[in-house]
Amino acid sequence: MIPLAIPNLTGNESLYLQECIQSTFVSSVGPFVNRFEEMVAKAAGTKYAVSTSSGTTGLHLALTTLGVKQNDLVIIPSFTFIATANAVSHCGASPWIFDISPDTWCLDAELLAETLSKETVQSEKGLIHKTSGRRVAAIMPVHILGMPCDIDPLIEIANRFSLPTVADGAAALGACYKERKLGEFFDCTVYSFNGNKTVTAGGGGIIATNDERLAKLARHLSTTARVGTEYHHDMVGFNYRITNVQAAVGCAQMERIDEFVSKKREIRHRYNENLRNMEGVGLFPDPAWSYNACWFSGLVLPQHYVVSESCEALKVLGIEARSFWKPIHLQPPYEGAPATSQRVAEGLWQRIITLPCSTNLNEHDQDYIISCIKTVLR
Ligand SMILES: *Cc1c(COP(=O)(O)O)cnc(C)c1O
Repeated sequence: MIPLAIPNLTGNESLYLQECIQSTFVSSVGPFVNRFEEMVAKAAGTKYAVSTSSGTTGLHLALTTLGVKQNDLVIIPSFTFIATANAVSHCGASPWIFDISPDTWCLDAELLAETLSKETVQSEKGLIHKTSGRRVAAIMPVHILGMPCDIDPLIEIANRFSLPTVADGAAALGACYKERKLGEFFDCTVYSFNGNKTVTAGGGGIIATNDERLAKLARHLSTTARVGTEYHHDMVGFNYRITNVQAAVGCAQMERIDEFVSKKREIRHRYNENLRNMEGVGLFPDPAWSYNACWFSGLVLPQHYVVSESCEALKVLGIEARSFWKPIHLQPPYEGAPATSQRVAEGLWQRIITLPCSTNLNEHDQDYIISCIKTVLR
């Protein structure tokens, strides 16, 4: 079976893990943690990088650091992995779920500007959602599938409505927007190093930021908010730090990030070139502003095809293909959350399949996958 996405661990991973064992630094202090943070800060284009135990805890911590509290609303797109919404819930807040743009599959900036103008009002407490009376505390756009969202209009809206921003860039390490690295734009950008991401640490996350105050506060909160060397804690903190063991794997992977991202882009290019002329088939978006990290590749099925049936047909041929994230507003925990109409997300999600795209996928296997798709979609 050609797998969907498996990690590529043929670099210094074993060597660095041995070093962890021999040095006894296996927990959340150790030389690999600092090195990992420096390497990711460089790739993100930020001065600071604070490591966390996962992308989800990174998002939760970033929102907390930006002041998201009980009962607040945080704006997210519907088309994302459930962790985006869960991070909001972990703050005691609720997501306000927006539809996506058909061109980018990311948070629709025009819809956002229009909806905020109509449905919110500024008060001493901040921006208030009129029908619920709840405070809108932040905007959390998602760089979907490793592709940067259209950042400029979102920053303009965030400034106009005085809203802090956290980007869920979980799978977008290595991507650029208008030739600048993604960490430069929003208040915080959070990356994930889960096993299926382009660069993995087994598990882990990073909050990247250029804001020294945010970086210090995030670090403080991530390590139980301890002050000094005694057991004195000045806030309700978390135990959210990455371990030296995870960071060791992360460092070995970061040494190869350029190679991995190039490979992901080659895989995407090869699928697109071979599938673009098939009747009714759509491609994943690739806007001109983006240097796309192409975390996942796949296609949009023609109208009358069913994802589960197409995946099953590919499985019989030895190919692992998958459906894509069910939008957040359709997930049981978020059925009651405020949401815009979801015309674009609902038209799209049941037509997307993701295809094998591990960084060690060879051209021969990829050509086999392409020929099988042509058979299955005939
Ligand atoms: C992977 C991913 C996450 C979660 O990261 P974890 O490290 O698995 O917690 C969040 N958001 C998006 C968009 C992701 O792709």
